Amino acid sequence: MAIQLFVPTFATDEILEEIRECLEKGWTGLGFKTVEIEAKWNEYTGHAHSHFLNSATSGLHLAINIFKEIDDWNDGDEILTTPLTFVSSNHAILYERLKPVFVDIDQYLCLDPQDLERKISDRTRAVLFVGMGGNTGQLEAIKAICVERGLRLILDAAHMSGTRLNGITPAGDATVYSFQAVKTMPTADAGMICFKDEKLDSIARKKAWLGINKDTFSRSSDKGSYKWHYDVEYVGFKYHGSSIMASMALVQLKYLDRDNAYRRQICSWYERGFSNSEVRSIPIAPGCESSRHLYQIEVDNRDELMLALNGAEIYPGVHYRDNRHYQMFAEKEDSCPRSTFISERLISLPLHMRLTKSDVDEVVRNVIKYARV
Ligand SMILES: *Cc1c(COP(=O)(O)O)cnc(C)c1O
Repeated sequence: MAIQLFVPTFATDEILEEIRECLEKGWTGLGFKTVEIEAKWNEYTGHAHSHFLNSATSGLHLAINIFKEIDDWNDGDEILTTPLTFVSSNHAILYERLKPVFVDIDQYLCLDPQDLERKISDRTRAVLFVGMGGNTGQLEAIKAICVERGLRLILDAAHMSGTRLNGITPAGDATVYSFQAVKTMPTADAGMICFKDEKLDSIARKKAWLGINKDTFSRSSDKGSYKWHYDVEYVGFKYHGSSIMASMALVQLKYLDRDNAYRRQICSWYERGFSNSEVRSIPIAPGCESSRHLYQIEVDNRDELMLALNGAEIYPGVHYRDNRHYQMFAEKEDSCPRSTFISERLISLPLHMRLTKSDVDEVVRNVIKYARV
């Protein structure tokens, strides 16, 4: 049997029951279950304000759009960001005509605070931090720099559903989660944005629903004859989530801690399997209980190893190609040599809820056989 990188696993019957409620009620869109998942997410994470969206990409854009407006940023202002991420993190910067300034990565594949400080200019407005694979990296050090230098911190927590740092859910001024199908809390496609500031949360709710200042769900429960009445305060976006996706999220949230514990178990099997070899995995930062979206190793012969593993019906992945390889983000001189180097060497090994110990052993055996380190 082939061993895949990611296979989403759902509590099917329970999800169908939640969805059935939506269908029978006749309410599949914004409101109803979306309100419920927002409350449950606040309770689970400790965030004060969570707004359910159709994706993390939407959330990242919304965060940058709102900060730009509230803080009066200009086109061409800079956001410090990582070159080693899914492109949607950096697209969000370009959507708002801002400039991504790439900061090199550390041993955790997260932003390196020292390089970050070097790259702050008088046009720097914010830092976008990606918790790679669920890792918190040196987030606290970065946060301290943001506070000291008056920069906004946007936490791309797409991999971080369930991650805790010293027992607490990490947060930025805005924290954005992905509930896309292969992430640690899978739906079909959804996300969550959590603003620290209540005022920004209320702007996000309007902007995610085309700028309309009263959602149809609250209107439908209003008394009186003005329920059809609303104003449009912004040229907003169609970014809010639906009750069908919220139904999936509500059920999957119940199992998130259990699922992540099994992910950590799988990673510890990998660690043990590689302990007598030269294969090196990316470490988890001290104090971080990672969601373990990814288990990554670093090798000399990445492309060759990928092919050899495919030959053994093992299908690993790469997270990520350095974004500066893409023409949208190309730069003339290499500003992040460590990322350039590691990006060619990284492999993400299979990690999902259906893997067994013997699958992991099989992957380990083949990696040790074919890897050059
Ligand atoms: C998956 C991912 C996103 C985008 O999430 P969607 O919900 O698919 O929009 C953003 N950033 C990172 C790091 C991701 O892995």
